[in-house]
Amino acid sequence: PLVLGIETSCDETGVGIVRGETLLVDAIASSVDEHARFGGVVPEVASRAHLEAMVPTIERACTTAGIGLRDLDAVAVTSGPGLAGALMVGVASAKALALALGVPLYGVNHLASHVAVDIVEHGPLPEPTLALLVSGGHSSLLLVPDVTHDVRSLGSTIDDAAGEAFDKVARVLGLPFPGGPHIDRAAGEGQVVIDFPRGLTTGRDLERHRFDFSFSGLKTAVARWVQAREASGQPVPVADVAASFQEAVTDVLTRKAVLACREHGVEHLQVGGGVAANSRLRAMARERCEAAGIELRVPRPGLCTDNGAMVAALGAQLVLKGRSPSDLSLPADSSMPVTLVQS
Ligand code: ATP
Ligand code: MG
Ligand code: FE
Repeated sequence: PLVLGIETSCDETGVGIVRGETLLVDAIASSVDEHARFGGVVPEVASRAHLEAMVPTIERACTTAGIGLRDLDAVAVTSGPGLAGALMVGVASAKALALALGVPLYGVNHLASHVAVDIVEHGPLPEPTLALLVSGGHSSLLLVPDVTHDVRSLGSTIDDAAGEAFDKVARVLGLPFPGGPHIDRAAGEGQVVIDFPRGLTTGRDLERHRFDFSFSGLKTAVARWVQAREASGQPVPVADVAASFQEAVTDVLTRKAVLACREHGVEHLQVGGGVAANSRLRAMARERCEAAGIELRVPRPGLCTDNGAMVAALGAQLVLKGRSPSDLSLPADSSMPVTLVQS
């Protein structure tokens, strides 16, 4: 099936088109520059930007893919979770398109889409697959029986998401928003010389929170370290702090992901979400999976951060597996739980 996917949960207006399990185009318009000076995404600004970018981005996607709207077999859209107003623009646009074309509409979970996009990159997902979902708002270990079925969450962050920690530490280091890519780049020039805490990885914490994460203690430890350094009048070694922080995050993420695969007898690990674009996380996951005999699947960095291809990819799976489409009264669900695949 030829499926168009629309993503507007945050600041990226994404329109992707897939044919079955083949990606034809991934068109993106981002309002990230408009938010940078506020140090975070401003919901009203994001909604307005989606509204302006929607039609041109759909047109660009169709032109690039060499298809007409009439060729589409289905329309998929992120129905949640995300910013309510931003989601509404995508959902309303998808409804209008599906209604006008007389094709089914699929409202899908943004988080499940971060996992499903791997299918257009590396082929069908083995069943079951364990997914390490690490993004701006979420950090979870998910047991995925089949991407079109509801997933089981083995654990998630009890405070900050991994991407949130990257963004907050970047701010402490005076790097621009969103901080993840800047920390990644700075870390490449630095050395891992500071031993920052690995939350929930030992003793009773590990027993009680086997597959949960905690990054707020780490963020505080970095802030304290930087403050102490500034107070002593010495320059802050930004690259070394970035490298040491990044090492602590990726160590915990990959350690717990491999442990979860072992304990649940799963031989395939998929890593998705914006933080999966991180070069150190990708390298460490590769090493540790290889050592543990686990197959690692990580999409190219451009498909880890928010995009429309991931929505189209999940939509196509729902069509292929014969799942029921959504009702045209489909609402945007800003707090859609990570376990639900469609609405
Ligand atoms: P969610 O998917 O939970 O709704 P989101 O859609 O806002 O959140 P994503 O676009 O999936 O988040 O990911 C954005 C996050 O990924 C940001 O926190 C950003 O800093 C982080 N990120 C992007 N690239 C990198 C990188 N190379 N290294 C580390 N973090 C990164
Ligand atoms: Mg974004
Ligand atoms: Fe996302």
